[in-house]
Amino acid sequence: MASDDKFLSNTANLQKYLSLPQKGSVIAEYVWIDASGGTRSKCKTLKQSPSSVKDLPEWNFDGSSTGQAPGDNSDVYLRPVAYYPDPFRTEGGANILVMCETWMSDGKPNAYNFRHDAAVLMDKHAKHEFWFGLEQEYTLLDAMGWPYGWPKNGFPAPQGPYYCGNGTGKVFGRDIVDAHYKACMYAGINISGTNAEVMPGQWEYQVGPCTGIDLGDQLWMSRFLLHRIAEEFGAKVTFSPKPIPGDWNGAGLHTNVSTTEMRADGGIKAIEAAMEKLSKRHAEHMKVYGEGNEARMTGKHETASYDKFSWGVANRGASVRVNRSCAEEGKGYFEDRRPASNADPYQITGMIVETLCGKVEGVDLYANTVNVENVENEMVVPVAKP
Ligand code: ADP
Ligand code: MN
Ligand code: MN
Ligand code: MN
Repeated sequence: MASDDKFLSNTANLQKYLSLPQKGSVIAEYVWIDASGGTRSKCKTLKQSPSSVKDLPEWNFDGSSTGQAPGDNSDVYLRPVAYYPDPFRTEGGANILVMCETWMSDGKPNAYNFRHDAAVLMDKHAKHEFWFGLEQEYTLLDAMGWPYGWPKNGFPAPQGPYYCGNGTGKVFGRDIVDAHYKACMYAGINISGTNAEVMPGQWEYQVGPCTGIDLGDQLWMSRFLLHRIAEEFGAKVTFSPKPIPGDWNGAGLHTNVSTTEMRADGGIKAIEAAMEKLSKRHAEHMKVYGEGNEARMTGKHETASYDKFSWGVANRGASVRVNRSCAEEGKGYFEDRRPASNADPYQITGMIVETLCGKVEGVDLYANTVNVENVENEMVVPVAKP
């Protein structure tokens, strides 16, 4: 990135203020999910460190400024659900990032709060102890919205040398990727690895395995961290499932799943039973597996058909893949390869629990639970072309 960009944050200069004592106060950055699949945040001074999430006060924001509420009833409430050490304002671990649910004044979840219903399902079926591991793919863009490291007025050489690549001209943005990796670890996010992807400027990291609703909380916080870190490098992050049309790989959010029964000896039976159930609710799953996913799921570039469910051992062209070692050991986990990179992990994991274990009265993972009138939201997609 151009270092003469005056809007780039001057982290070196900031550093000397970051080390000033806080005189016992704690900075809590409240993070929530907005109307376009992004994160928003604002911070609050606390007089003492919380010892559990219950100690964190409820807060609010102006929902009419984020497309989450109409202007004449604009208060949206922030309810803390998890918190993590803040890797930006470290203060020996005292400052925190707070993941929040959003609620309306009528006592209903905000239209973009899918966590609440997912948590009800997870709670009801807790005895199966669902583990989720998600592979978050994303694309780095420069400030103009063109993929990071790509020639200004054209395209790089065709795909091939970039996946897990090393060396100049093969990978772009490793500094951002490593900064994010360490920041996640510091925050206690269960990040399990990273790799460069098939399209240059595209990367992946994995979060998990995490139990139940915890996966969604951690994945959303990891997305916040990624946006926040890229900001310091003058880069943008897009979770668009097909950022560049044509012969360039799309981006997914492969979802690895297991239950107590699947992890136990003979668990392959439970996995096969799960495949049967998944095959019957393909359309319902696709509804929450990300906007614009049909552009990614073409049957090419290691994806399956958008319309039809399939599964297979070691098959990267199937909707769901059972890995070879799981088939050999007769137990383990399966990988749902359908979700797009921009999907909401609460909806994905909630839908999987619902399909495998059954519905819970009143839970609706698809629709926005509240209709927000007079609000229009657009998906964020990079627009620049050479
Ligand atoms: P791939 O081979 O598809 O690229 P990755 O190694 O990128 O797979 O990601 C695999 C994910 O599966 C990781 O997040 C890992 O934590 C998760 N995982 C491993 N074991 C289990 C399990 N038993 N249940 C659910 N997720 C698991
Ligand atoms: Mn992977
Ligand atoms: Mn990948
Ligand atoms: Mn995968």
